[in-house]
Amino acid sequence: MFRTTKCAYLTNRIYPIILSVFFILLSSLQISAQEYITFKAKKGDGIYSVLKQNGYPSAEYLNEFIELNKKKLGKENSLIVGRIYRLPLKKDKLAAVPDKQIPAEKVTKKKVYEIYGSKYREITIKSNELSGAIYYLMSGHGGPDPGAVGNLNGHILCEDEYAYDVTLRLALNLTERGASVYMIIRDPNDGIRDEQFLLPDKDEVCYPGNQIPLGQLPRLKQETSAVNNLHAKNKGKFQRMVVIHVDSRSNKENIDVFFYHDKGSSSGKKMAATLKQTFVQKYAIHQPNKVYNGTVSDRNLYVIKNSLVPSVFIELGNINHTRDQQRFIISDNRQAVANWLRDGLIADYKKSIK
Ligand SMILES: [Zn+2]
Repeated sequence: MFRTTKCAYLTNRIYPIILSVFFILLSSLQISAQEYITFKAKKGDGIYSVLKQNGYPSAEYLNEFIELNKKKLGKENSLIVGRIYRLPLKKDKLAAVPDKQIPAEKVTKKKVYEIYGSKYREITIKSNELSGAIYYLMSGHGGPDPGAVGNLNGHILCEDEYAYDVTLRLALNLTERGASVYMIIRDPNDGIRDEQFLLPDKDEVCYPGNQIPLGQLPRLKQETSAVNNLHAKNKGKFQRMVVIHVDSRSNKENIDVFFYHDKGSSSGKKMAATLKQTFVQKYAIHQPNKVYNGTVSDRNLYVIKNSLVPSVFIELGNINHTRDQQRFIISDNRQAVANWLRDGLIADYKKSIK
């Protein structure tokens, strides 16, 4: 949906001038030169799904879409495969412009985020590849609920701590590439940790700072509505949710990273498929002797079913299996997983905004 215009690649000096001229023109002419973004309908596309995929609140733009494309629609306002359709102009188009065009001089800017902890709190924005994208990252469990619990050499391994650390590393990775990231489950004092054994605690809160209830359903409701509230606030922008868990199975079962999406979400499904594809490529490069057996499937899970944001739910492995445990307890491996997820999400974003 969002396009980076060529302006973003102009030299630093000329850019601000062009930008201000651009804004003066926009404000004085009330966007006289309106440019519609078009797409070619594919099999299975409908007005609702296309609007949703492109970050439009469907209900609000439905009539406008029909009006704009009325000569090209099929029976009962269906989309005809292969035809080119126009997307309505977003009402917050003006507000979205500065987000999309980070001037080159700002790309190497440093930012400080306390949530990453003392060692990692200062980050450098390395690129604007994900500028305009918003991610809600939700690590499994937290607060009074540790999730799955395994053990290794007398150490207790809690799902919530390991899922949190990978999620936080992913948050940093995405922020460095220009995305806006919301950590939904948040620990005020853990930060990114490089130890093998992450000490369990119970002080995680749910965005923005709410105590997490013990019961499963109230907990799932709390975190889902945190995301849905933000979704309403960020209306019209590209938004995705990533949920990260660690599974608990018998200690004989060695499993790969699994990706789940909600049955009704085609954008969630696409994201899951792109992430899996990325993992297949990464395994081929980094672990050529190992066959990657991860899967993509739909699954009836509360948070992805009830989220208004296209979502993927990831299981990182079996907390009880010795080899899977290496994937979590070694911090370099947690980082590698977060890096692969970042690359997959960048690929997903690039495909989605085409
Ligand atoms: Zn879990």
